[in-house]
Amino acid sequence: MDLEIPAAAPAKPTTAAVAAPVTFAEILKHPDIAARFQQVRRYFFLRESTYDMTSRCNVRCDGCYYYEGDKQNAVDNVNATAWRDLFRAEKARGITFVVLAGAEPALVPELLEACYAEIPLGAIASNGLVRIPESVGYRIHVSVWGNDATSERVRKAKRMLERQMEIYAGDPRAVFVYTFTRENIAESRAVVEPLAKHGCKVTFNMFSATVGYQGSLTHTPESLAETRQTMLRLLADFPEQVLFSPYSAAAHTDARSLHNLYSCPYPRQNQGQFGLGRTFRQYHSDLTWVREASCCVPDTDCADCRHYAAGSAIVTARMNRHIGSADQFRSWLDYVDTYLAVWVQGYAKSPNLCAVPVSPSLALQPEANR
Ligand code: SF4
Ligand code: SF4
Repeated sequence: MDLEIPAAAPAKPTTAAVAAPVTFAEILKHPDIAARFQQVRRYFFLRESTYDMTSRCNVRCDGCYYYEGDKQNAVDNVNATAWRDLFRAEKARGITFVVLAGAEPALVPELLEACYAEIPLGAIASNGLVRIPESVGYRIHVSVWGNDATSERVRKAKRMLERQMEIYAGDPRAVFVYTFTRENIAESRAVVEPLAKHGCKVTFNMFSATVGYQGSLTHTPESLAETRQTMLRLLADFPEQVLFSPYSAAAHTDARSLHNLYSCPYPRQNQGQFGLGRTFRQYHSDLTWVREASCCVPDTDCADCRHYAAGSAIVTARMNRHIGSADQFRSWLDYVDTYLAVWVQGYAKSPNLCAVPVSPSLALQPEANR
């Protein structure tokens, strides 16, 4: 987590439904806030980079961000020693958290083991159709894009949810990530219910179009509003299984993208040498990286970026835009608590502190908030 750490000075004035201005020091006097802040700040040491482990995938999804742009043309480095050397160097430059993605990382288990041997904190983005060996102790994010009929149409894979559950139900590493598109909102309950019944943890993602994507999955204002209500209902109905918060729902379904709300700190949008702009790299499967193109979801359109992986850095980095009131800071803490529960193996989600989503508009820069 690369944070903007505020001084204990008067917070910026806030608007609607928020109490009179308070200082950060006053906010921290609330016992629930102080306890949760202590809990999450132990993870402020996390420094992330991401790695495409392979350009191969066993399915081919409509709207996949990996098969956009040049990164798919990298010649895969399949040498486990080379990957281990890279991770040793990454550790030496201060990287403490890795996200292994691709195309499909489960197809190269020996490379995953080499990475895990060097940096043991991290997560793998997988379609969940090939089991990753127990020896790889990372969080595993299993992507779900709808019910089996929808997955067959959009991802060209049969019985996808059934097979994912056969492989990962009961595995403490697994979090099922339901990606809301414009078309699959109504069927989300029919997906979350069986997942919850099987004891699986679930979180939510938003389809975020790649640059130039013209397909039918992109959200509209109406689908954003409907998705927000659906997320909140599922969170209320499955509080033990759904890892999410009211503020997460608000931030990811706002009409403005995460970048337009919070200013993305990844190098692709932040060429400055501070925070994530200085430390983050996005490696291709040939072990090269390009600063100008680096972010966790390269080739995604920043004006449509609502991706859960992007938010985990973009929103968490903006602590000092969330100190206008106690409830706004509670919302930020809920967001960070959700992020840690979803991404860090062994971190348990706590009950949310703020039951009602505060408006993400309150986190806009003052000049953008007029
Ligand atoms: S499973 Fe992931 S990497 Fe493979 S095609 Fe689908 S979105 Fe792309
Ligand atoms: S796509 Fe998202 S994460 Fe990537 S640079 Fe744009 S706003 Fe940031």
